[in-house]
Amino acid sequence: MLPGPTIIRQCSSCSKYISERTIGSGNTYGARFWTDGKRDAPMLPNRSLLLKCNHCDNLVWINEQVESGEIGPWEPEADVTLRFPDARPASTPTRQEYARFLEAGMSNKKKEFYVRLRLWWAGNDARRESEQSTPLDAFEIENLRAFLALLDETEEDDRLMKAEALRELGEFAQAEELLDFKFDEEMTHAVDVIRELIKNRVATVTEIKGQ
Ligand SMILES: [Zn+2]
Repeated sequence: MLPGPTIIRQCSSCSKYISERTIGSGNTYGARFWTDGKRDAPMLPNRSLLLKCNHCDNLVWINEQVESGEIGPWEPEADVTLRFPDARPASTPTRQEYARFLEAGMSNKKKEFYVRLRLWWAGNDARRESEQSTPLDAFEIENLRAFLALLDETEEDDRLMKAEALRELGEFAQAEELLDFKFDEEMTHAVDVIRELIKNRVATVTEIKGQ
């Protein structure tokens, strides 16, 4: 994985500097793929768009924060501190922080989609490493139902995601119906894995192997 520049932005809530390390190039070597669409790629981490500013604890959309400067990947770390004193990296929000952010109200559907998808993944994270199939809690069910309303069945990606969400909600018949569709070649493996899980009445997130 090659590092990219460190981008410095000014937080719109508190005006302090947020530093973001970027990746120059990476690859999906050693990546794991999951039925809920999450990809864990150690050599190509997902870039979070909604981050918590570690100065003021507010959640901000990183691309909407005004850029103050950029520091090349090979420039000494001290340059960041010198040019942008007190610059701090932002962190990925926790499940509770995403939830609070949603509660404050969302007017933009794309942003709501982003936050609900992260919330879904965050809830499933505990299930990824355990053999137990913990059922969804009331909050997760509510989030997943609201997420379903944001999906468009005529879009293949959305359609597969909808089938997966319904499977995790235990609505197997409806999930199966959505999969009865001619998906693009590169999606058929994931479709087969999900279809098999539906057949076996399994509602838990599962790793898609052999991708
Ligand atoms: Zn801030």
